[in-house]
Amino acid sequence: METQKPPLIWLNIFIFSFSLLLALVATPWYAWEHGLTLWHVLWFFVAFSFTNLSITAGYHRLWSHKTYEAHSLLRVFFAIGGAFSLQNSILHWSSDHRRHHRHVDDFEKDPYSASRGFWFSHIGWMLRHYNQESYSDYTNCRDLQKDPIVMWQHRYYVPLAIATNLGIPLLLGALHQDYVGMLLVVGALRLVLSHHSTFFINSLAHIWGSQPFTDKNSARDNGILAIFTFGEGYHNFHHIFENDYRNGIYWWQYDPTKWLIKSCSWIGLTKKLRVTPQLKIDSAKAAQIFKKAKMKLEQRAEAASLHDQLQREFDSLTALMKEYYEAKKQLLESKRQNAAQKYENALLTIRYKQLKAELAERYRLWNQFVEAYA
Ligand SMILES: [Zn+2]
Ligand SMILES: [Zn+2]
Repeated sequence: METQKPPLIWLNIFIFSFSLLLALVATPWYAWEHGLTLWHVLWFFVAFSFTNLSITAGYHRLWSHKTYEAHSLLRVFFAIGGAFSLQNSILHWSSDHRRHHRHVDDFEKDPYSASRGFWFSHIGWMLRHYNQESYSDYTNCRDLQKDPIVMWQHRYYVPLAIATNLGIPLLLGALHQDYVGMLLVVGALRLVLSHHSTFFINSLAHIWGSQPFTDKNSARDNGILAIFTFGEGYHNFHHIFENDYRNGIYWWQYDPTKWLIKSCSWIGLTKKLRVTPQLKIDSAKAAQIFKKAKMKLEQRAEAASLHDQLQREFDSLTALMKEYYEAKKQLLESKRQNAAQKYENALLTIRYKQLKAELAERYRLWNQFVEAYA
């Protein structure tokens, strides 16, 4: 006998399907019949960036994870952009998201658990009353309830959502003499693409990609997804180091949300940006390679001796890593002090450079070993 599914949420079904219909059918038809101008394209990108960054930098990295502090001006900006993105209030979104991190992949407790499949984690979880009993339970967001901007947005979420989703396109329509075109492009098309690109983080970013930092949960790093999600595609890193304001930690990784938060700190709009110590990141990465290598080695005949060698290589690598970052920390601290310590600086610099070279050599041996045997 099939278990009874929870009742459908008709309002959500209507919003998702009606906006999809407008985006897929009405918008191309209108563009074909009446043509669109560069203004439509420009405003589309402005509105798309405004809504998505309000979710990634605001809802996600600021409010859900408290990875930095933001000036009230910026918080109001994100609160409005969040209502424009039509993804529920900051309080509600963050409460769901904290549950997701706490119980990641748990079939029942993770509100958009990837273990329930692509459809459920992408959109299905919003189409039925799955967690009705805990729907308005915001006890995991007591800190956010002290933020007057969060509570203001929560109270006036519906009028704010209507005002932005209809008001902004209509205002642009008046400006460019095309109400319908702006409603379709900046209203519907922007909303649908913004919705699904964000939803991909819950679905695709838990299915498709690599796991360089941990395999204790389903989260993946995916550079392609990062392009559509303003940097949130580095989800494997994010799930292990959720208090870091960055998701893409390397300079070559596309993480415009990180760049926004960082550049806002230069003009005083953000502060106290939290980053994970590099030692922790490198250790997690080495431990993950170690784990994979061990598993592969088990299939080889000479497993035991190779395993010992691998263990030794791993131990020397992690020990040296610790020493290297300790020296680096000392060097930075010492540099911060004054010139009277130049002598000590010189000694530390030599030690630091020595360790850096040794570590590079260790890494080389390690990679050689891992590639050869595992
Ligand atoms: Zn998160
Ligand atoms: Zn996740």
